[in-house]
Amino acid sequence: MSVTVFETITGLQTWLRDLRTAGLKVGFVPTMGALHDGHISLINSGKEVCDVLVVSIFVNPTQFNNPDDLAKYPRTFDADLALLEKSGASALFFPSVDEMYPKPEKNHWDFGLLSTSLEGHFRPGHFDGMLTVVKKLLQIVSPESAFFGEKDFQQLALIRRMVLEEGLDVKIIGCPIIRENDGLAMSSRNTRLSAEGRIHALAISRILFSMREQAVIVSPAELLSWGNDALRSSEGIELEYLSIVNARTFERVDGWSTEDDAVVLVAAYVDGVRLIDNVVIKKILVAMA
Ligand code: AMP
Repeated sequence: MSVTVFETITGLQTWLRDLRTAGLKVGFVPTMGALHDGHISLINSGKEVCDVLVVSIFVNPTQFNNPDDLAKYPRTFDADLALLEKSGASALFFPSVDEMYPKPEKNHWDFGLLSTSLEGHFRPGHFDGMLTVVKKLLQIVSPESAFFGEKDFQQLALIRRMVLEEGLDVKIIGCPIIRENDGLAMSSRNTRLSAEGRIHALAISRILFSMREQAVIVSPAELLSWGNDALRSSEGIELEYLSIVNARTFERVDGWSTEDDAVVLVAAYVDGVRLIDNVVIKKILVAMA
């Protein structure tokens, strides 16, 4: 299937208008490119429930709090387009920075712990930039459903909250983390890891899986202390945070609950590349224990 590429908002919207008139359901997958199977899984989920699937590739400068990270962010347009052709996506929206931001924009959302803890704390300004661009993209594409990965767990929670507060008419659908066979969560940034760093990075998912197995048997505090020790003593890993929080409110978890899932979230540097990952501790586990 051939993918139609649009670089302008009006071009995309004119094309979408005709499809909507024909009664077709539009799904949307926003990305920053350097596509991998994690992105493709979102496209596949979208294709199941929508007739037309729009993917965007936009490396959004306003969500990078670190200029070096922005400069080094992988950009692989030709390979991305080839993958999209195979994936069955209908259209690619590939705007320039000027197309998205004809004038500078500064918005701020305060959603308490959801926006200020963890990623919000360690990447100041990141969530405001991310929510600004996601809101703009949702308004441009105006899809029935939009698909986001649980890999960015806090991002997904914030997008759900923003959509609710802003009254945007779109269904937000969360999709599970896709991993390499050895457990490493797929990420565009993984391409920046050296062969050795790639091996060191495996400790992150290995320790998270082990924490998920021990959860409920030991207290959250004991589990956190074990995980911190394990990560800090892992070669090549520079831990930024490890935290166990309520998956809905992002409050610190002091005891396991049957009311809400808990989630273990981690951010760590390997080879100077910032990696994030998480595992969910389902409330059903607590109920069964
Ligand atoms: P990005 O291009 O990294 O901004 O990601 C675009 C979308 O793909 C976001 O909704 C991410 O959460 C999602 N995503 C990235 N990596 C994965 C993964 N390994 N599994 C599932 N979804 C992912």
